[in-house]
Amino acid sequence: MKTKTPLKQLKLSLPAQETPITSFLSASGTFQDGDLMLNQKGLRLKSADKATRQSDAKELDFQVKLEDLETVKVIGKGSGGVVQLVRHKWVGKLFALKVIQMNIQEEIRKQIVQELKINQSSQCPHVVICYHSFYHNGAFSLVLEYMDRGSLADVIKQVNTILEPYLAVVCKQVLQGLVYLHNERHVIHRDMKPSNLLVNHKGEVKITDFGVSAMLASSMGQRDTFVGTYNYMSPERISGSSYDYSCDIWSLGLVMLECAIGRFPYIQSEDQQSAPSYFELLAAIVGSPAPCAPSDQFSPEFCSFISACIQKDPKDRGTSSDLLKHPFIKKFEDKDIDLGILVGSLEPPVNFPR
Ligand code: ATP
Ligand code: MG
Repeated sequence: MKTKTPLKQLKLSLPAQETPITSFLSASGTFQDGDLMLNQKGLRLKSADKATRQSDAKELDFQVKLEDLETVKVIGKGSGGVVQLVRHKWVGKLFALKVIQMNIQEEIRKQIVQELKINQSSQCPHVVICYHSFYHNGAFSLVLEYMDRGSLADVIKQVNTILEPYLAVVCKQVLQGLVYLHNERHVIHRDMKPSNLLVNHKGEVKITDFGVSAMLASSMGQRDTFVGTYNYMSPERISGSSYDYSCDIWSLGLVMLECAIGRFPYIQSEDQQSAPSYFELLAAIVGSPAPCAPSDQFSPEFCSFISACIQKDPKDRGTSSDLLKHPFIKKFEDKDIDLGILVGSLEPPVNFPR
């Protein structure tokens, strides 16, 4: 069911000016990276996400200007800001607008805008597209691809556990996104967790927020205040040691295990009411043996996959490309498992249009 909110009565909370965009335009006034073209008139996308969305790509062949976007509703809140659903007034296309409140020095802000610009040119179907980013009045705003079924966190709230065939389909897509980030973009995500894995009605799973919060946090020297949760941090990260791409693999393993068993693996039982504190987590993640999938409840392939991810020594973890070839992923590849059916049978998250 579509929202019945009268759009005219809603106030547009977007900044009126796009000043920061000009800070990374070339002398000719145009920034071009692959199919993404940005000039004084706004953003032009010819065929972002070619691999899977030829028809969408056609639809996206227009100029996205901020003044052409209107707010539909707030769909989410994170530790850094608010996510709104916005609609393009003329073509009706929906986007997610993420606004992160942050007053920072001009120099740092310029660096961040540069980094965000690089993030914008994603050509991977398993990474959420960032169409536009800018800084205005003490806030970063990101115009993102809208994922109409919310996040994996929303999915597990409803279903509690996800069966192995569906998990394999989710996991394969996340790994494809990670191969792209790690091998092509040379980016560590740093914040892999259920709320950063987004889902749409077609059953597509895409990674979002790569590097954004970590970058903002480290640029501000406020890493601790910006981190939403330490739950999925690998032992080397939570203890402050150096880390590499393999920290994302640890987090992916924990997320998959949580989806399979229906609780965060470091919580011993469902009776445990309160979330573990930072010190409890630190002690458990660094001091206890790594969690694993119970072999009496799950297939040997799944158990082996989880233990290829959740290894305390980063060197013992598989890489994203290795794991794409793992027997757990291969097992369901030719079985035609349609995640869209599972996702389609669920209620959209509370704040999302029905
Ligand atoms: P934290 O800020 O602590 O990392 P978070 O990831 O939940 O937590 P946000 O990234 O601000 O915080 O996202 C808040 C919620 O907004 C998400 O859980 C998701 O439901 C929704 N959301 C975020 N991005 C999109 C998007 N592109 N499309 C649809 N929904 C989104
Ligand atoms: Mg997020």
